[in-house]
Amino acid sequence: MQKSELIDHAKSYYDMHQILELELAINLAITAHAGQKRASGEPYITHPLTVADTLMNWGMDLDSVIAGVLHDTVEDTNVTLDKIESLFGHDVAQLVDGVTKFAKARSGMQDLSNYLPKTKDNLSKLLIAVGQDIRVIIIKLADRLHNLSTLQHLPHDKQVKIARESLEVFGPIADRLGMGQIRMQIEELAFSYLDPAEFKRLKIIMKKRLGKSTRKLGQIRVDVEAVLKKQNIKAEINGRVKGIYSLHKKLVKTDGNIDGIYDLMALRVIVDKKEDCYLVLGILHSMYKPMINRIKDYIATPKSNGYQSLHTTVITPNKQIVEFQIRTHEMHDYDERGLAASFHYHDQKSSKDYIKKRKSSELPANMRWITQLQEVVEKLQNGEQISKDQLNIDLFGKRIFVHSPKGDIYDLPEGALPLDFAYLVHSDIGQHANGFRVNGKIHPFDKPLQNGDVVEVIINKLSQPKQAWKNLVTTTHARSKLQAQLKQLGLIGMITNAASIIRHKAYQRNKHK
Ligand code: MN
Repeated sequence: MQKSELIDHAKSYYDMHQILELELAINLAITAHAGQKRASGEPYITHPLTVADTLMNWGMDLDSVIAGVLHDTVEDTNVTLDKIESLFGHDVAQLVDGVTKFAKARSGMQDLSNYLPKTKDNLSKLLIAVGQDIRVIIIKLADRLHNLSTLQHLPHDKQVKIARESLEVFGPIADRLGMGQIRMQIEELAFSYLDPAEFKRLKIIMKKRLGKSTRKLGQIRVDVEAVLKKQNIKAEINGRVKGIYSLHKKLVKTDGNIDGIYDLMALRVIVDKKEDCYLVLGILHSMYKPMINRIKDYIATPKSNGYQSLHTTVITPNKQIVEFQIRTHEMHDYDERGLAASFHYHDQKSSKDYIKKRKSSELPANMRWITQLQEVVEKLQNGEQISKDQLNIDLFGKRIFVHSPKGDIYDLPEGALPLDFAYLVHSDIGQHANGFRVNGKIHPFDKPLQNGDVVEVIINKLSQPKQAWKNLVTTTHARSKLQAQLKQLGLIGMITNAASIIRHKAYQRNKHK
């Protein structure tokens, strides 16, 4: 991506005055990144310019695009936030600051399996970074997408790290923001690095199957088009191919049985009005036999990320099983761009309006978690305590947040056990854990924690880790600490073997209490 290319693209989105501002930002970034190179050997500036271009294609407002151009300057060059603020205003500076903080908060987290903050302080930094302006996350997604698409230039271990993080963090975030298209791009790229063999295998399977079904679906499409035309319903019909990663996830669930997956390729019917969606559904059901348990009305009850469509799977006279997805153009646009659609350059106002809008009830119900997140951020900034419900924000996919009795927040993977928590707080606490109280009640070692739990570790200085604990920890962090402690105890164990047997028996008794 070159400066001239980006300016050219900008001409179809912005007016002359705005383009001059954009050009100023580009020039600043070019000077700042001068001499820096990407791992590919290309000049570094190609990266921020591509990120800005992506944001433009998503239809983002000018502030976001300018922040995209400048997103790495504060972190990697001697450009200061003050300078950005004086040239482009407070809002652009805030966006760049958010992206920079996000990067800093995350670089403090070493091991990916424990990738999120270990301390309240880190967590709040991250929350503040992402919570103040949701556009920060959208810029990060564009940034990640470009880094993923240039991943071939990095060493293998870095590829795996970035790919895994993309799958575990950025994919779910895109999904939470309703940005279905972007989520798929991220997942596709990341998966191809994480499991290249499986990716290739599924791609080949998909290609074979699609070859066959495209021909068959072609006829069905023609039939449906003809009937809709007769009924005077204006509709576009397209084929939608399932993403490789989403196929992979489904295959894991169905024990690898690809014949049980009916939506490898679906037909998408896009109409003008909501009422037409239901008309089309009725028509399809009069043409083909629907599979009753596969009719879904995501228009009346949208998915939690705002996705809307009618889904139905039908069986054609020659026994073909076909999934249809019926939606309006608006619903289709939302599925592709999600929350990014609400920052559209067309209805560009000042950033203040966005922030106000996001804080008011105007935000779609499914995006209420953004308001919740912002409330949590405000409380954290004011040093206030946070209630259990307020932490029920599922931004990071399968993670849970639990607190200590003092109110410190800890973040664990879903399914984590009490010992994982104990080791996360401190290895000494893990070592001497003798029992747990969760939300005030005694809690067994082998029962997973839930989001929002208040977890208290009952300590006994004489209590020591047991071999059996190996099956009672799930995180890499807890496992490695436990391993080290067991190893150390092994030496002591030779001397105090008898004592440890007695202790172990006591532990067994306690466990069944
Ligand atoms: Mn970047």
